[in-house]
Amino acid sequence: MSTTTTFPKRVRTEVPGPRSRAINEERTRYVSASVAPLLPVYIENAEGSVLTDVDGNEFIDFGCGIGVTSFGHSNEAAVDAAIAQTKKFTHTLFSVTPYELYVEVSKLLTEITPGDFEKKSVLSSTGAEAIENAVKIARSFTRRNGIAVVDHGYHGRTNLTLGLNYKAQPYSAGVGPRPGEIYRIANSYPFRDRLDGAEAARRGIAQLEKISGADNLACLVIEPIQGEGGVIVPAPSYLETLQQWCNDNGIVIIADEIQTGLGRTGKLYASEHFGFVPDLVVSAKAIAGGFPVSAVTGRADMMDAIPAGGLSGTFSGNPVGCAAAVEVIRELRAPGTLERTAEIGRKIQDGLRALQDRHAVIGDVRGLGALHGVELIDADGAPNPAAFKKVAAAAADRGLLVMGGGSDGHVLRLLPAINISDELLDEALAILEEAFAQL
Ligand code: PMP
Repeated sequence: MSTTTTFPKRVRTEVPGPRSRAINEERTRYVSASVAPLLPVYIENAEGSVLTDVDGNEFIDFGCGIGVTSFGHSNEAAVDAAIAQTKKFTHTLFSVTPYELYVEVSKLLTEITPGDFEKKSVLSSTGAEAIENAVKIARSFTRRNGIAVVDHGYHGRTNLTLGLNYKAQPYSAGVGPRPGEIYRIANSYPFRDRLDGAEAARRGIAQLEKISGADNLACLVIEPIQGEGGVIVPAPSYLETLQQWCNDNGIVIIADEIQTGLGRTGKLYASEHFGFVPDLVVSAKAIAGGFPVSAVTGRADMMDAIPAGGLSGTFSGNPVGCAAAVEVIRELRAPGTLERTAEIGRKIQDGLRALQDRHAVIGDVRGLGALHGVELIDADGAPNPAAFKKVAAAAADRGLLVMGGGSDGHVLRLLPAINISDELLDEALAILEEAFAQL
């Protein structure tokens, strides 16, 4: 692999630079300390896969705002559609006076989500809100209360979703009682549990039968690949075995595809990699190129379970976001898009495995398409968050933004655009090589 010397010099100042540092001081004075930026470089402009900050430093974006700007920043088709819609109208509220774009996005989602059955959608604004809607739908449909979730999961920061998350810190500790009727089981974590998927699923099912009982459960909420948890790809048969048990016991399966959906893993939805067919699928993040749109899509009879007026909110299915979403979904379905993402995945994985051969700190490399995790370990195989911090800082100093993940903050999480160029990929991998060499 070539070194960065053959690549453009992207960073001109120390990171963060002087202007970013000045703004950051204002932030600490005026913005709640509960909002904590990963890398406090203040962005002035972003195009394709490159962020430019207020000091003129450039960063190859391997985060995409956590998997949102999947086709790159300022995606032309989505931006043009949003501008055109902005000039027509920006808001009416679909549940007051509706508009066709909401219906169009709902229909498109029924076409692209897994499952060959009659489906409907409901739109909302954020991922957590859509998860809450999905749980409400499942409870209303089943007339049961229990919610099953798995270790290392993440589902949001609203009151209900705090209860679904694995980690209390920093999300739910000290902010009051967590919601009840939530039952957590072991996930499939091949690098750590060494179990095959069916075994891991049977272990979880046995737990659920003890701590809840199947007939108490309205739903299972699960990410097909856990994002914040550290890009944990379950062993084959894990999801199918859970699905079989849920289907046999009338438990609604909710796939949280907020991070993994809409092309991120080289399929439209990650569930497809596993032959996993959820009843309800939650989409958000990448759906509208950065505009806040989220959705629940699933079995039509379930989706009609809540009485009229029971779902929606002021900004749900905002028309500007919907206009962008139509373009994003069109690009996703264009010939070659997903094949290119799969190819990006192979390239990233080859690069990371070559690094793993040279660096014992890399315990595991895993992922699909444009979603990869590098689990960092110490000499005893324990999580190594200090290594993550050093690698992320060294990468930023060289012009590459990477994300963290893992319940111990020890997983390097890579989420480039799903159409990133080979040139930028090569450059990013060369920067990572230097960053690991610094350790
Ligand atoms: N579920 C998953 C899998 C996520 O990755 C996220 C966001 N990181 C959420 C839920 C919450 O989405 P939002 O931040 O839009 O509420």
